Amino acid sequence: IDFEHCGFPEILNDNLKKSGYEVPTPIQMQMIPVGLLGRDILASADTGSGKTVAFLLPVIIRALFESKTPSALILTPTRELAIQIERQAKELMSGLPRMKTVLLVGGLPLPPQLYRLKQHVKVIIATPGRLLDIIKQSSVTLGGIKIVVVDEADTMLKMGFQQQVLNILENIPTDCQTILVSATIPSSIEQLANRLLHSPVRIIT
Ligand code: AMP
Repeated sequence: IDFEHCGFPEILNDNLKKSGYEVPTPIQMQMIPVGLLGRDILASADTGSGKTVAFLLPVIIRALFESKTPSALILTPTRELAIQIERQAKELMSGLPRMKTVLLVGGLPLPPQLYRLKQHVKVIIATPGRLLDIIKQSSVTLGGIKIVVVDEADTMLKMGFQQQVLNILENIPTDCQTILVSATIPSSIEQLANRLLHSPVRIIT
């Protein structure tokens, strides 16, 4: 199996090839079809497994066919990780119509982020604190969000972001597809998954 036979839009196939992605990694092979079906996912996946592309492809396909902006949200614990995810997202989305991203992260000036947010962005990549600030000042509407990814959920909890993540997700439609990715699945993650996910498919690698 390779990406070329997955039925993705041609531009996306070209972008995958340009990035050097020809054969899906094991986590991608499991997560992409389930993600495309719209199911919630609880995945245990470490850095280096290809987890980012595994959740980006369902996010991109979903956002591509949605007219509302923003329609996808990726939450991650750190600015550095958010920047990496956005870089990969931009590589894969290059040339696709109406597929802008915005980075909403702390430690960088807020006004350019708010300006960018107004440009009909499809995909938000955010850290919890900065996104909550923006929600509180009513500078973003999350009612059009159809797919949410919580990446490195165990790190989120270790950094004390659980309540912030829950507060953010209160602003998102309840019928939204949710993908929770975590390196480890301790009981705290199981509990979070129980609160956030509806009949999730569990993917263990
Ligand atoms: P991640 O686990 O998301 O941090 O990804 C680890 C590395 O694997 C990144 O540098 C990706 O660019 C790379 N990668 C992801 N998917 C593939 C693939 N299907 N084939 C080759 N490299 C990949």
